[in-house]
Amino acid sequence: MQQLIDNFDRKFEYLRLSITDVCNFKCNYCLPDGYQRTHNKQFLSGQEISNLVAAFAELGTKKVRITGGEPSLRKDFAQIISAVSNTKGIRKVATTTNGFSLSANAQAWFDAGLDAVNVSVDSLDAKTFHLITGKNIFQKVMQGVNDAVKAGFKQIKINSVLMKGLNDIDIDLYIDWIKDQPIQLRFIELMQTEDNTEFFDKHHISGEWIKQNLLDKGWTQKVPLSHDGPAQIFCHPDYLGEVGLIMPYSKDFCKTCNRLRVSSTGRLHLCLFGEEGVDLRDLLASPADKEQLKTRILEALKSKKVSHYLDLGKSGGTPHLASIGG
Ligand code: SAM
Ligand code: SF4
Repeated sequence: MQQLIDNFDRKFEYLRLSITDVCNFKCNYCLPDGYQRTHNKQFLSGQEISNLVAAFAELGTKKVRITGGEPSLRKDFAQIISAVSNTKGIRKVATTTNGFSLSANAQAWFDAGLDAVNVSVDSLDAKTFHLITGKNIFQKVMQGVNDAVKAGFKQIKINSVLMKGLNDIDIDLYIDWIKDQPIQLRFIELMQTEDNTEFFDKHHISGEWIKQNLLDKGWTQKVPLSHDGPAQIFCHPDYLGEVGLIMPYSKDFCKTCNRLRVSSTGRLHLCLFGEEGVDLRDLLASPADKEQLKTRILEALKSKKVSHYLDLGKSGGTPHLASIGG
């Protein structure tokens, strides 16, 4: 079987698929002025998504994360989950959501075949949550997390971007929360994009600081598993939950890269940063183009670079992460 392996021997079994770039939140580090439409293209249709995922699966992709923008804003979200999870070769379907409609839909998404959900909860304090996201719905999002547990999800992760002067003081609250909850907290280091340079300079906290904070509190780093990708995972004997750290500025971050991305308009991105992507759209309408599609993906992978060079101060031309799917 053909495999997605690049020139640096990295294997890509994980696809992050954006299905819309629209979002209903105004996270201050991502879309502070809310979503602004910058193109007139249609988002990938259900059929195009099915054809795309089938081609990736034949190239060895085993896990698909459906993201955005806010993926759950698509009316056909449950059908998309179902189509992806029924694709031969796909073993795991996950999503990343702001949690806006999780409470209402957790059961339906689980029943449609969703295996794992990451919910972004950028503060455990309702006022700070409102300040960061522009939405005064902290309780509703937390209800969604509880409903996801009830619906039967075994893998629930909470994403939080820790930021200086905003939610950095929440770190202890987060850690207390997972004492008795089998949840993995994911602290994501704030990334600089084209649109948030000033914000980044003011609020960025280094991942190393977060890591040291955990080590000082008796957390230990687990031996990485192959599917962890670039995340560093920490555990503590007194806690049911775990902490994952995503530190894109650490020197060797890209060494364990295991993911490719496709944008909501069908462009293949080999990295979150620093390239324009390869258009796949003309080969997505018909399943008859699958072999050509696979060839284009394999060809594109040959030009994947060894690193995003963010540690050298580059922000890579990505306006914000909602644009190609964070
Ligand atoms: N709207 C969904 C959400 O917020 O969960 C999915 C898309 S969002 C782009 C995916 C993840 O990227 C979220 O956890 C968000 O916090 C994170 N993110 C967005 N912009 C970021 C940035 N500049 N630095 C670090 N993480 C960022
Ligand atoms: Fe929307 Fe997610 Fe960006 Fe927040 S981080 S504005 S929820 S896409």
